[in-house]
This record gives sequence, C-alpha cells and structure tokens, in this order.
Amino acid sequence: MTDSIKIQGWCPTAWQPMRAQDGWMVRVRPHCASLSVAQWRVLADLALKHAHPQIELTRLGNVQLRGVSQAQLDGVRAQLIAAGLVPEDADADLAPAVHCTPLYRRNDATQALAQLLARAAVQRLSPQALARRGMAALPSKFGLLVDDPARRMQAMGADLQLWVSADQGYGLALADSTQAYRFAHPEEAVDAAVEIAAWFAAERTTLVPAPTRLRALLAQRTPQLPALQTAPLIAADASGGAALAPGLHSDHGRIIGAPLGRIAAAAMHELAMQLPADAEIRVTPWRSLLLPYDAVVALDAAHWITAPDDVRLRVSACTGAPRCAQGHAPAQTLALSLAAQVPPHTHLHVSGCAKFCALSADATALLVARLDAGGAPRLALGRADQRNAADTPISWPAASDAPANIKKLLHDLYL
Ligand code: SF4
Repeated sequence: MTDSIKIQGWCPTAWQPMRAQDGWMVRVRPHCASLSVAQWRVLADLALKHAHPQIELTRLGNVQLRGVSQAQLDGVRAQLIAAGLVPEDADADLAPAVHCTPLYRRNDATQALAQLLARAAVQRLSPQALARRGMAALPSKFGLLVDDPARRMQAMGADLQLWVSADQGYGLALADSTQAYRFAHPEEAVDAAVEIAAWFAAERTTLVPAPTRLRALLAQRTPQLPALQTAPLIAADASGGAALAPGLHSDHGRIIGAPLGRIAAAAMHELAMQLPADAEIRVTPWRSLLLPYDAVVALDAAHWITAPDDVRLRVSACTGAPRCAQGHAPAQTLALSLAAQVPPHTHLHVSGCAKFCALSADATALLVARLDAGGAPRLALGRADQRNAADTPISWPAASDAPANIKKLLHDLYL
C-alpha cells in the first residue's frame, strides 16, 4: 500500500472554508491580531455548540473552528459576521491576508500602518479589485505582514513585510530579502506594497507553473515599479527577533500559551468571563495569546501554559487521527504524552502522515507515522533538518508505552 498524500491547495477563510474529514474548517483572520473578549466569547460558544470544542491558533496568527457540519455552516458564518469577526462581504474576506504583530500599543504607528495596509488590501487587492484591472486573484497563500520594529514575526515568511523602524521611517522587504526599501510616510510604503502585489498577480500568470509565492517569482524577475525607484535601499535585519515565551513581559503584557495551539473552548469561556467584554486578547504567531495588560486571571494549568519552561512548549502536532482521514496515528495524544521526554532546547513535531501539516519552524526532531509495505502504520523518528534521510523506525504502538525509549532516541539523534 502506498502512503499517498492529498495536498489541499488553499488557505481556508470563513467564506471559503475547507472541508476536512471531520467537517468544515472555518478560519477567522483577526484584524490587527486583536479580538475583543466579547468576540472570544462568541468563538467559544460556537465551538461548544457547532464545532469541535476547541479553538485552534495557527502559525500565521489566525484562529479557526473545526468540525462544523454542512447544516451549521451558514449559521456559524452568520454569527461570525454579526460579531464582527468576519467581513459581511465575501470579496473582502478573500482579499490577501494582512498579518500584524500583536506587539504594539493602541493607536501607535504600527497599528496605524496595519490598518492602512488592511484597507488597501481589501480595496485594491481583493479578487474583484484585481479583476477590474484584468488580473486573476492572488493565490490564497500570498500574505502581507506588518511587523514590530524588532521584526519578531519574520518566521511567518510573509511575501511582503512592512514595519515602522526605530527612526520612525517605514521599511518594506520583499519576501526574505536582506535589503528593504525605506519610505518616509506610511502611505508611500503601502502604495509600494500594493503595486508589488499587483505586479506579482500579473507576472506570475505568464509563467508555467505559476509561482504561488513572491520569493519564487523574484528568483526569475525583478519588479521595475515607479514606487520603488526613488526609495533608498537599506539593510534589513533578516535574523528575526525571538518569540516571546509565556509569562509577563513588562513592555507588552502577559503571554499565555495553548498546548499544541489548541484552546479548549470551555477554558476560553472561563477566561473571557473574567475580563470586561471590551478588553482585548491578541493572537500571536507562536500559538499563544497576549493580554496586553497585567490582568490577574485564574488559568487552569491543564488548558493553559503560563511558564516558559512548560514541557508542552517542546512539542507540536498536526491534527492526526482520528479527525484527519490521512492520519495513521493520534499525533496530538502522542505529542502530549512525549513532551516530558523532549530535552530542553529541542522541539519534537509529531505528524500523523508524511504531509507534515502545520510543521513548526523550530522543530528539531520529527516523529512521523507512515504505512509500511504491508499497509501497517509505523512510527519513525528523525532530525528535522534531515527530513529525507533514513529515520529510526519505532515499533507501533510501543511508542506510547515506552517514553523512556523515545527519550533515548531523541538524545541519540544529536550525538
Ligand atoms: S500531516 Fe497530519 S493533519 Fe496533515 S494530512 Fe497528515 S495526518 Fe492529516
């Protein structure tokens, strides 16, 4: 039996949800990385009543519900629209994603830049806006980012990255370039970003196969746009700032993590009931939440990660069996059961099959379920930087019975 993998070709939204084995996946893209407590209550209620009782946090700072039935899909979307979580206009929801750092102060220049870019993306880069210019819609994986000055969000790999620099100028980097264009005003930076995105939308369709990410097009072509010709090039720090770990950060607020990036809806409901309805809870790309204030809240340790040394931060997992039809192993259960065996400063990603959905950029080791020649599932462990090399087979289901064996194998990987 072959271990065939089905690749889904787009990122889901609320108006273009993705069908999985366990129902529809409905994604909400937070505006400026922020949702109000009232909106979190709506999400928790919907998850408890009409989906799996979890709210998933993605590595792009989105939140999503899974397991929505066909019969409930329209009703769930209507409630998300009523709560201001999803645009009423499908075309706006299908505009390219504008991700935003959660590390800003209300009404500061970073938030203003993100709001300006988000408006421009809807007005000038939505499928209908591009169609009016005779262009096809941008691929759904194309994304724009407004980062913080320390550029902590670089690991998101956005196609266009903008930020307010320390000297109050505006930087614009194309893909993972180590150089950036500098602009004096936010409108100039946003105009340039929009024109590069439109250039990408037009140019990509002249190639076969059409690239889906800007990086691939830049390897073959260079944009010659008026918006870039007068902007000076500056060095862009491509090293990326470190992620903020769970705990209190005096400059930003309190970070709380969700094990495996999944928030139990009941736990979110409990948290939301302790805070005012108009308070913010922001979403990070590190599968955690930011309370941008020092709130005293009671958090159940079974559902929340509040300390930077929590071993659950050392593991991640895809959906896996039984919810994913392609999963050969219960990836999430395995990951949590093995977390205490993962050495500090290493990260184990558990994958239910070789597609490696939601693979963490900081994974150092991979535990993957595959089918052997006879069609029986087996687990294999290997280094993340040697994904195609021969890995160590582990008897199944012994992996969950012998965590000490896994611990030794993980240790041996780095000898
Ligand atoms: S990697 Fe995980 S979630 Fe993705 S298809 Fe395989 S089992 Fe499913």
